Parts: sequence; C-alpha cells; structure tokens
Amino acid sequence: MTAAHRRFDYDLAIIGGGSAGYAAARTAAGDGLKTVLIEGGEEVGGLCILRGCMPTKALLYAAEVMHLASHPGPWGIVAKQVSFDFAQVMARKDRLVKEFADDRRQQLLGGKFEFRRATARFADPHTLKLSTGEKLTAANFIIATGSAIAPSPLPQLDSVGCLNSDTALKLSRLPKSLIVLGGGPVAIEFAQFFARFGVRVTLIQRSAHVLHELDEDATSELEKVFRREGIAVYTGTKLIDARRLGAGKEVMFEHTGKAVRVHAEELFFALGRIPNIASLGLEQIGVQVEYTRIATDTRMRTNVPHIYAAGDCTGLHEIVHIAVQQGEIAAHNIAHPDQMKNMDYRLLTEVIFTDPQIATVGLTENKAHVRNIPYVAASYPFSDHGKSLIMEAKDGFVKLLADPMTGEIIGGGCVGPVGGELIHEIIAAMSKHTTVHELAAMPHYHPTLAEIWTYPGEELAQRIRL
Ligand SMILES: Cc1cc2nc3c(=O)[nH]c(=O)nc-3n(C[C@H](O)[C@H](O)[C@H](O)COP(=O)(O)OP(=O)(O)OC[C@H]3O[C@@H](n4cnc5c(N)ncnc54)[C@H](O)[C@@H]3O)c2cc1C
Repeated sequence: MTAAHRRFDYDLAIIGGGSAGYAAARTAAGDGLKTVLIEGGEEVGGLCILRGCMPTKALLYAAEVMHLASHPGPWGIVAKQVSFDFAQVMARKDRLVKEFADDRRQQLLGGKFEFRRATARFADPHTLKLSTGEKLTAANFIIATGSAIAPSPLPQLDSVGCLNSDTALKLSRLPKSLIVLGGGPVAIEFAQFFARFGVRVTLIQRSAHVLHELDEDATSELEKVFRREGIAVYTGTKLIDARRLGAGKEVMFEHTGKAVRVHAEELFFALGRIPNIASLGLEQIGVQVEYTRIATDTRMRTNVPHIYAAGDCTGLHEIVHIAVQQGEIAAHNIAHPDQMKNMDYRLLTEVIFTDPQIATVGLTENKAHVRNIPYVAASYPFSDHGKSLIMEAKDGFVKLLADPMTGEIIGGGCVGPVGGELIHEIIAAMSKHTTVHELAAMPHYHPTLAEIWTYPGEELAQRIRL
C-alpha cells in the first residue's frame, strides 16, 4: 500500500490528537502506515483528559467523600462540622489531569508516528494547510476533531454569561447558588457536584425527565435522590428569558403552564455539544455533513473514499471508549482495505457518574419499544439486597432485558452504588451472548453488590422456559 502512495508525504494524516485521533495513530503506525497526527489545541491531551471524563470524575468522587463524611449517622459515626477546602479539591483534580496529560504527551511524542502541533484544514482532498503555514499531503485522512460546546438557544444567555463544563473546572471559589440549564449527563453530574459542596442548585430541563433517553424508572429514581439532597428539579420546561438581576442572574421559563422565575448567583450552561468541524473546509472537498455531524458508515468511512472520521465529530455517541474504538477501526480499515472491520453498537454502554450511578448496556426498554424488539424484563431493588443494606445504599435497582424466545440477555441497566462497575458483568455476559439461565447459574460471591444480578436473572429464567 505504501508504494502505491509514494506521491504523498504520508499514507495517513489524522486531524485531532484526542482519544479517537491517538487511538487511530497508534493503530495505523502499528500496522506500518507512515502516519502524521496534527493537534491544534492550546494544550495536548484531548477532551477526556483535559476537560471531560477525568477532571469531572475526580470532582465527583470528592463530592461523594464529602457526602459520606457529612452523613455518617447510619453507621453510628459522629463527625461534627465536616468542612472542605475548595482550593485543595481543585488542586487535586489539576494534579491528576496533569499526570494523565503528561502520559498522553509522552505517548504522542513516542516516535511511532509524527506528531505536529498546528490546526489543520483541507486545501484540497489530499492536502492539509496547517496554521504554521506548511502544507502536507496524504493518501488517506482520519478526521478526529471532537466536539465543542453548543451555541446557546437563547441569545440572552450569551449576554448574561454562563459557566460551562470548561469554565466550571477552573473556578477558584464556589458560587452560593447556581441554575443548571439542561438535564443530560454533564448537567446532572455537575449539579450533584455543586450541590454536595453546599451550592444551592436549581436544575431546569426541557424534557419530561432528566436523561430523557433512558427508561423513566431510572430517571425518576435519580430525580428522587436529587430532590432529597435539596436540588430543585424542574422538568418539562421551556426557557423564555434570562437577565442579570442585581449581583446575580435570573432565568424565566414555562413550567406546567405557568411562567416561573428563578434567581441565582451563577448560571451553568449544559445544553449539549456539537461536532467541531466548522473550520475544516469540508464543504470544498465534498465530505457529507448530516445535521451537524460528519456522516460515516459502520466502517467509519465518509462519502469521500479516502477520508474517514472518528469520535465526537461523528456525533452520535459522545463516549470515550466508542471514540477509541472508532479511531482503531478507521485506521485498521485504511491499513487493511481487504479485511475491513465494522463498528458494532450492540454493546453500547453509557455510565453517568452521579450517586447513585446510572449505567446501561445494550437495549433499554425505551430503545426496544422504538425499534419494535420483543423482550421480557425483570428488575430488583437495592433496598432489598444484603450488601447494599450493609452500605446504606438503598436507592436504585438493576434491570435485565432478555429475548423472550432464547433467554439471551439483550440489555442491562443499573441505578445504584458503583453502577458503572456493576454493569461490566452484563457487558461481559452480553459479549458472549449469555442467557439469563446461564447468568443465574453462575457463582456469585456473597455478600457482594454483584450478586444482585442473579435475582432478575433467576426471575427471567423461570419465565422463559426453554
Ligand atoms: C464534562 C464532560 C464529561 C465527560 N465525561 C465522560 C465520561 O465520564 N465518560 C465518557 O466515556 N465520556 C465522557 N465525556 C465525553 C468524552 O470526553 C468524549 O467523547 C471524548 O473525549 C471524545 O474524544 P475525541 O477524540 O472524539 O475528541 P477530543 O478528545 O475532543 O479530541 C479532538 C482533538 O482535536 C483537536 N482539533 C480540533 N480541531 C482541530 C484542527 N482543525 N486541527 C488540529 N487539531 C484539531 C482538539 O484540540 C482536540 O484535542 C465527557 C465529556 C464532557 C464534556
């Protein structure tokens, strides 16, 4: 393949050095392609490390420690006047992010592929123009430019000014009160983080529930916990206006047919992200954009045969392991055009790192209804499970969905303690097409959180007689 492309500087040029771009470069170089990766961000590391998964989970874990320390009563422990040092909480997060970013920088500079610091745009279908003024040519391309915070649906929000997931990570002091706009993962993770550090939080969500794509039993459970922890949750709303009011900010919205005004020191904008592709010059080279995302097939090919895309810029799933897998598949398919691989979303997993955590794999009941897929489902609550009672972690439940004819597990959900860890048993089971009968018969150590899966497993095994 390389010989056929000698007229180009590289076999493959990758734009963007985040999770998708790095995974693609590592795979391509391993497969012998002469590869260059171009990264244009102010810092090296990508969204997950610098402003996404890692800093937010570091803060959420601190919030969980704070919550447990302030509510030790159930275990007979007395802790008076639990307090915190916000500067130290943030400094720990910054230290971790620096460590992760340093590791990534070393991987990028490891010499297996060329690493360039510049922003890139297409000059023609085989040429990139870099912000350094250079041009480079390649036989193939992978676009992995990630996503950016979505524009505001209400111009007033821009003039009033809002925190977002980038700026909130740089706060040097906490606001006294906060209005969170949105009900997706970023909105609810930050809402709980702020609330557990003593900020008075109001959350305003347009849909009937937070995390509106998930099953209602899961989202209602989380809303119940949020309200119990003092977060004011408004769902089914329509934003009308926002303005500055005194030293704070006010938001007006419709809720149950009435106009409501809420006031807080700060606003937090979490109304989504969009693919970051505006400045790539895609229109000149004919790469098809669907709505706001780069359209790809399951082999991660765009409509232009030598141009692939991976990660958040392809828009459908903003999940880091999916970005990695897409980057690997794109690079593999460029290196091995006769043995192409496809992305398979059967095991699509999502985790939301609130407390209780929410995790799903495969089908939810909502998805099964929309796709008209027959299923049987069974749930079991943590309020009736030995280990969770020991831990006083009684919110939530696990749920299994199975094929009514074969008993194969086709979906799993967990709202509960360490749900993001527990879901991996079902990911492993589903990857091997395990049935509920097999899951129920599998040994589970007692008393563990994991053994809770056997209850819906047993119930479904009894209902599905083979
Ligand atoms: C607050 C928050 C929390 C999150 N938490 C989680 C989580 O817990 N778990 C999870 O799975 N996912 C999480 N995500 C999502 C996850 O971070 C993303 O899905 C993932 O990082 C996307 O990787 P990527 O490679 O597609 O994009 P990115 O990591 O954004 O990489 C794109 C790179 O391209 C560079 N670039 C852009 N344009 C150009 C150009 N023209 N030229 C050169 N370089 C360019 C950018 O500088 C950037 O480094 C979170 C996201 C946010 C915002």
